[in-house]
Amino acid sequence: MTFGQSKTRKVVIIGAGFVGSSYAYSLVNQGIVNELVLVDLNKERAEGEARDLNHGMPFGFPMRIRSGDYEECKNADLVVITAGANQGPGETRLDLAHKNAKIMQGIVNSIMDSGFNGILLVATNPVDLLSHVALEVSGLPQERVIGSGTILDTARFRYLLSEYYQVDSRNVQAYIIGEHGDSELPVWSHVQIGGVPLKDYGNIENIEKDKDMTQLFENVRDAAYHIIERKGATYYGIGLGLARLTRAILYNENSIVTVSTLFEGQYGIENVYLGMPAIVNEYGIREVLDLDLSKTELEQLYHSAKVLKEITEKIIPTVN
Ligand code: NAD
Repeated sequence: MTFGQSKTRKVVIIGAGFVGSSYAYSLVNQGIVNELVLVDLNKERAEGEARDLNHGMPFGFPMRIRSGDYEECKNADLVVITAGANQGPGETRLDLAHKNAKIMQGIVNSIMDSGFNGILLVATNPVDLLSHVALEVSGLPQERVIGSGTILDTARFRYLLSEYYQVDSRNVQAYIIGEHGDSELPVWSHVQIGGVPLKDYGNIENIEKDKDMTQLFENVRDAAYHIIERKGATYYGIGLGLARLTRAILYNENSIVTVSTLFEGQYGIENVYLGMPAIVNEYGIREVLDLDLSKTELEQLYHSAKVLKEITEKIIPTVN
């Protein structure tokens, strides 16, 4: 890169709560962007977070951080939405649907009014449905409206497998797909430890019926409930996940990440956002992987699509 011609990488975060500020902190720690703006309904909160993050600058990577308003989205490469109500104890992600769909509609309208023409990344729950709302309201091409999908669930899955087998989680290849929520599913047929299929590595005859593996998946699926019971919210894991996704996008990495994207006939599923491994780069979602799923996995994916489709069909007409 020629000196003085470094590319500006500008991210605007809408929602400077637990998730937004944990994400911002991850960006600062990893030096992923050089301009970061925090926007929140609660302006004081955004201002406080920006000041606090700026005071870490001498220990981190040089970047410009400030709080601001929606006009900051105009020249942003990436706008990340983490605003909205979060899950209360015992509340499912889908319970949040109505509340957060209205909030999402207002936020996306304000983003688009700025003249924004970059990539939109949604993390607010229920993330699959709200990514679909963001697509409808923004009118952006679908490859540029991305949901954080099952990135966190996939990370939890990889972590728990790595703990079980005492192998570095970065050497565990595994995906959680479908809804980021109760109907998500593990793709057991494609789990590999260092390239070795799990059934061979773990010497497991029928993974889908294995007691330990079933328990392990349940702990992935219910992880948010377990954490919310203990500390009220989850935010560090997703903060790091959003930072990973940001790097994939802004550095044109063509990385494979389990994001939420619009299905258009894959597996016979249409017009619903679901988490699937996809290749992500500076243009957004380049390609969704076509996994050869087992019969059980296909059934579970159809179930997940059905759950989301029902709520999507109720909510989308209310925001159009
Ligand atoms: P929080 O309450 O700490 O923060 C939400 C922030 O949004 C608050 O600062 C609030 O002022 C702001 N806000 C609300 N309405 C707004 C609006 N119209 N415009 C601008 N800002 C607005 O909540 P949190 O713990 O940060 O969670 C945020 C969202 O992230 C929730 O929906 C939660 O379920 C979700 N979440 C997603 C994942 C994931 O994997 N995708 C993981 C954890 C949490």
